[in-house]
Amino acid sequence: MRILLCGGTGYIGCHAYLVLAARGHEVTIADNFSNSSPQVLHRLETLTESSVNFHRVDMRDRLALAKLFSTRRFDAVVHFAALKAVGESCERPLDYFDNNISGTINLLQAMREAEVRNLVFSSSATVYGDPERLPIREDARLQVTNPYGRTKLVMEELIGDVCRADPAFRSANLRYFNPVGAHESGMVGEDPGGIPNNLMPYICQVAVGLRDKLSVFGGDWPTVDGTGVRDYIHVMDLARAHADALDYLAREDRNLTVNLGTGKGVSVLELVRGFEKASGRNIPYEIVDRRNGDVAEVYADPSLAQRLLGWRAEFDVDAMCRDAWRWQSLNPQGYASLFSTESDRALATA
Ligand code: NAD
Ligand code: UDP
Repeated sequence: MRILLCGGTGYIGCHAYLVLAARGHEVTIADNFSNSSPQVLHRLETLTESSVNFHRVDMRDRLALAKLFSTRRFDAVVHFAALKAVGESCERPLDYFDNNISGTINLLQAMREAEVRNLVFSSSATVYGDPERLPIREDARLQVTNPYGRTKLVMEELIGDVCRADPAFRSANLRYFNPVGAHESGMVGEDPGGIPNNLMPYICQVAVGLRDKLSVFGGDWPTVDGTGVRDYIHVMDLARAHADALDYLAREDRNLTVNLGTGKGVSVLELVRGFEKASGRNIPYEIVDRRNGDVAEVYADPSLAQRLLGWRAEFDVDAMCRDAWRWQSLNPQGYASLFSTESDRALATA
């Protein structure tokens, strides 16, 4: 298939690129580098030993999107492009609505005009809010607790309406739980700019000496050890699910909404211990107050994805920690230290 990855230089997108390219798909990336580095393209070229077809496009730019769709006939689009920081979305809700929702409307319009009718969408477990029951099934009540989550829910609904209006349009909503880890090469991985919001990148930065200690947000949650429990999933397992979802749309000709998680809850302290074992580094931590808006426990029932896609997560917490550590130790400053080469500057201003 000829596949367009919107937001394909981001953390999950670049791992999906590697899986899709390895399966023989012809993949094009569009991104505006608002939260990624042009260096990713060089890394992907090195890993695949071939050039990457890349377009610098902002999803909010309708004309640029129309131009992109006129360059080649795509069979399907995978839509990763979004702003994703919960705290920032509370401070700048309009930016989140503009980027995420306007960008998605433009993309859906460009797809309609170009008659591209297969979409895989990056949704999130955030659409379940504070779950009533665990593990979470896809038919659980949807409720959001912050503007970022609201954009994901609105985007799911938008896509659902497009499917109802055009019975030939097919979509797969993939509700990711907590993606962590990196490609086994350590050449691509998660590179949050500034202070990481999420647990695994924070642990990685403590391990490599960029931060003194981890703040554990609450030690009095009603969980196994009092710390928050999440369903961490290796990014390569997640990436593989995108390829499986594209196959499903082509094979079954039906829409799809599935959870992507392992089905296992892991506490903050369990992840810390797993990381210490994988890295051989000590991770100092301090238990502090709960973070605003946090919930105690979130983990998936991933059985629907297994039934419909034949997909299940293969990597365990040890592998997630091992690969996250390999990426961080090979790239202590993320992509930043390599960002200033001439070719990067040229790409960034292209
Ligand atoms: P990321 O920020 O690393 O990747 C997103 C990419 O989209 C970036 O490269 C960014 O530059 C690009 N982008 C953003 N807005 C754009 C725009 N208007 N035009 C063009 N490009 C744009 O994030 P990620 O972790 O790879 O997440 C990918 C998707 O998965 C997002 O939609 C996110 O909401 C969703 N998701 C992520 C997680 C997670 O924990 N990482 C969990 C659930 C869902
Ligand atoms: N967490 C923490 N310290 C941090 C970041 C996160 O204790 O610096 C906890 C957080 O309270 C939650 C878990 O780690 O229980 C996962 O948080 P993350 O932000 O990675 O994912 P999310 O809460 O969005 O599922």
